[in-house]
Amino acid sequence: MAVHQFQTEVNQLLQLIIHSLYSHREIFLRELVSNASDAIDKLKYLTVSDDAYKAIAFDPAIAISFDAEKGELTVSDNGVGMDEADLVENLGTIARSGTRRFMEAMAEDKRRDSNLIGRFGVGFYASYMVADEVTVTSRKAGADGAWVWKSDGKGSYELEPGQRDGHGTTIVLKMNDDGREYLNRWRLEELVKKYSNHVAYPIRLAYDEDEYDDKGKKKGSKVHKDEQVNSAQALWRRPKAELKDEDYVEFYKNIADSDDEPLLWAHTKAEGTIEYTTLFYIPSKAPFDLYHADYKPGVKLYVRRVFITDDDKELLPTYLRFVRGVVDSEDLPLNVSREILQQNRVMSSIRNASVKKILSELKSLSENDKDKYAAFVAEFNRPLKEGLYGDYANREALQELVRFKSSSVDGWTSLADYKGRMGDEQKAIYYIAGDSEDRLRKSPLLEMYRKRGVEVLICPDEIDDIVMPMVGKYGDLELKAVNRAGAEKEFEDKLDEGKAKDLAPVIERIKKALGDEVKDVRLSARLSESPSCIVVDADDPSIQLQQMMKSMGRGGDFEVKPILEVNGDHALVARLAASDDEALASDVARVLLDQALLVEGVALKDPAGFVGRINRLIAGA
Ligand code: ADP
Repeated sequence: MAVHQFQTEVNQLLQLIIHSLYSHREIFLRELVSNASDAIDKLKYLTVSDDAYKAIAFDPAIAISFDAEKGELTVSDNGVGMDEADLVENLGTIARSGTRRFMEAMAEDKRRDSNLIGRFGVGFYASYMVADEVTVTSRKAGADGAWVWKSDGKGSYELEPGQRDGHGTTIVLKMNDDGREYLNRWRLEELVKKYSNHVAYPIRLAYDEDEYDDKGKKKGSKVHKDEQVNSAQALWRRPKAELKDEDYVEFYKNIADSDDEPLLWAHTKAEGTIEYTTLFYIPSKAPFDLYHADYKPGVKLYVRRVFITDDDKELLPTYLRFVRGVVDSEDLPLNVSREILQQNRVMSSIRNASVKKILSELKSLSENDKDKYAAFVAEFNRPLKEGLYGDYANREALQELVRFKSSSVDGWTSLADYKGRMGDEQKAIYYIAGDSEDRLRKSPLLEMYRKRGVEVLICPDEIDDIVMPMVGKYGDLELKAVNRAGAEKEFEDKLDEGKAKDLAPVIERIKKALGDEVKDVRLSARLSESPSCIVVDADDPSIQLQQMMKSMGRGGDFEVKPILEVNGDHALVARLAASDDEALASDVARVLLDQALLVEGVALKDPAGFVGRINRLIAGA
């Protein structure tokens, strides 16, 4: 017998699970059953795809039994099993890089909910909430011997050769005081029905029952019973008419490893040249790894009811990575590989139809249930915007689905509603993009639009700056950024020509004082209160995009000098016009530039210099 130490992370994880998920401890059974079902999936797949396993014939089953006197609960399966190396790797270490993040997320998560568990491969350890000791006896399909893994979950585990009839895994939990309640037929049946009813394989529960005579009197003897307690059907294969909302919800909780209710589901059976069934769910909350590069995709692929993969990022486009569900095809080959999947015609038509289906379901939701749609937008507006950028084929549908904040209305608005509110003379849709909603709302660039009652969309997502120019148009209306030179043209109060002429020398002096810090200095037509603002040329990256690139270490590639626009009516400019002091001109010019940068959220290169100039200007007033 060999004693092994757990990887440090396993110990931390165990502590975390035991302490934070304590009130949800009944999920241990769901986790064990789900592992058993995965193991059967894997073996079934091998028997159809790999010649070495073709000879294995087996009747998939998961068995649960208990011994109340001994205080033991047993869950066993005839799946793929594990050998010595698998046991070390799977139960002694945490192979996935996401685990550290899981632990951080759990530590931060005030709700302490169990949704995070399982998405990271921590499910098995949930057993230690109800057990003092866990023994795993496993025999890998195709191998001769079995291995026994045993641990009390306190730092180390033992591993030694053992016995098992046939392939599969048997897990015995020695229950602690909290676990004893589960050594009961009714409780176990309830848990299986609640969490695992739609696991695709039969789950059998074995128990002893008191025997009664004809008159209903207890005989004192017991009979052994062994019953299937789940429905064991691939739910998505059943006709819609037979399925109740509860069935869909329970199935969702199962496949999404979530305790939340789904927001929406769509169940489709396609018949014709290509036959397949899809069942998609939109979660009510964004998965925590939505913005991680190594997110876990949520759609499982089956071919004729055989599970193929739950780790294919190609089943749906990336922007729909929050969708959960199942795709089951009648036409794909069973031994389909990842490479084949990517180029397969069947797969790509399923994918295209699926995207259309999901988007059209969202469209109906937006029309029929505004509250629910608002809840959807709060969680998933941003990924939809990614779709606007990446999914050209569905751009029009996506344009109807994305929502924006606006200078004219509270909450969210659609492009269609914006269009509906537009005045006759307005020729474009205006937006301002940046990194803070609050700052954008206060931007001097909005002054002219406000004065004229023109609505501007407020776009504070970091991707807006890339997405909005890509989108370009909504129907025949152009989308125009208000921070770009030229956007104001159609509203421009004809700049008083006489005044422009008078101020030309002042503008020249400012330009001279700033030298090559700016691309240009212009008299502004869009300011009424603020003394100055920054704009960029139509094809130049915005200030925010430049900032973002800089923070990614790529500033040099994108740096473009800003254009400074100056408010000719402002007192600061008047003061400059009235004096020929060049030191004053330099101070005023710098302050006009620096404060315009500040309101854009740019950190000044020389804050002390800025403060010095401000003080000189105040003192000289
Ligand atoms: P997850 O199931 O989320 O990956 P677990 O901690 O529950 O995480 O299990 C870790 C790994 O141990 C699994 O990924 C699987 O490879 C293996 N495993 C667990 N239970 C079984 C089982 N009953 N049969 C075969 N392998 C199993």
